[in-house]
Amino acid sequence: MKVKYVRDVSKLEQIPPEAREVMEKVAERYVFRANDYYLGLIDWTDPNDPIRRLVVPDERELSDWGDLDASNEEAVTVAKGVQHKYPHTVLLLVNEICGAYCRYCFRKRLFIDGNDETTLDISDGLEYIRSDTQITNVLLTGGDPLIMSTGRLMTIIEKLREIDHVKIIRIGTKMPAFNPWRILDDEKLLEGLSTHSTPDKRIYVMAHFDHPRELTEAAIAGIDALIRAGVVVVNQCPMIRGINDDPEVLAEMFRTLAVIGAPQYYLFQGRPTAGNEPYEVPIVEGYHIFEDAKRRVSGLAKRARFAMSHETGKVEIVGVDDSYMYLRYHRAKNPRDEGRFMVFHRDDEAYWLNQLTPVENMGMGRLDPDQIPVGYEEFVEA
Ligand code: SF4
Repeated sequence: MKVKYVRDVSKLEQIPPEAREVMEKVAERYVFRANDYYLGLIDWTDPNDPIRRLVVPDERELSDWGDLDASNEEAVTVAKGVQHKYPHTVLLLVNEICGAYCRYCFRKRLFIDGNDETTLDISDGLEYIRSDTQITNVLLTGGDPLIMSTGRLMTIIEKLREIDHVKIIRIGTKMPAFNPWRILDDEKLLEGLSTHSTPDKRIYVMAHFDHPRELTEAAIAGIDALIRAGVVVVNQCPMIRGINDDPEVLAEMFRTLAVIGAPQYYLFQGRPTAGNEPYEVPIVEGYHIFEDAKRRVSGLAKRARFAMSHETGKVEIVGVDDSYMYLRYHRAKNPRDEGRFMVFHRDDEAYWLNQLTPVENMGMGRLDPDQIPVGYEEFVEA
């Protein structure tokens, strides 16, 4: 099946004309794109429909809030379109287009005119990866790598497979949700994945479903086709206000994902990205929703971690009590932070690590000055 793309928000006839005018203003700043299949999942009689919230602009996106590059990806960019933050993993930003644009995207800066962070020419990236034998994982991202032609995608995968130390190739994609036929109707893609996802070197698809209603029959068939091609599929997504900030919605999604063989890997705390104020949930609230969702599902469905993808590393939110918040580096940019446990004063209004105040003499507060996590000097000295 061929989906039809919709790029002009004024064409959404289900929305009253006055509301569309406001949305056009929002879309001038943060671009709109969707397709007829995905728009068809929306219940237009419900102004708060979660699928609608996911792709249709919201006036509140224009509020002055957050940064365009909230995790400071610029600091780990080692060449055009190449990010290297953790020793074993490199990101290649292979394009700047997606099947639709999620309103809460943390990389929306890529879609703004004049941005040139991605590159079609990945030769510098390949050279970089070839020269560092520590790199065992390469994540193809963007944008969405499955928007590229199969020929181009396979050329990249073939080149990566020539580098012996690259064991795992990951493809970060929301196409199984936005357009499952991109997978189902492309035998060459499935054959190529099957060739390069081998018993000793797998390809992983990092899918991106945010709501159980995206797991349609076609989406599940798309995941099944990937699994049958020998690909390992997992899911990761942020917690988003009005979309999945509900324990039963999350639980239903986790359950279905486990049943179809694409278990949740990370649930991310939303990054404080410009335009994202209407979509963000404070950390403490998000933690309780996540824990409540986990109580409703079996072990296989609750393997995910709730974490912040912070500029200093992946910081897992491991606990909250009446007074404190307990955090731990699951991945750290600086190896000395790996596994570090931190205690902060509970702050129900905080959205991000930088807004938290550490507790003196507990966790991070006990560190010698030269042991303070990078970027946290000011907190510890205070
Ligand atoms: S699919 Fe990913 S990169 Fe594309 S708009 Fe959505 S969150 Fe952003």
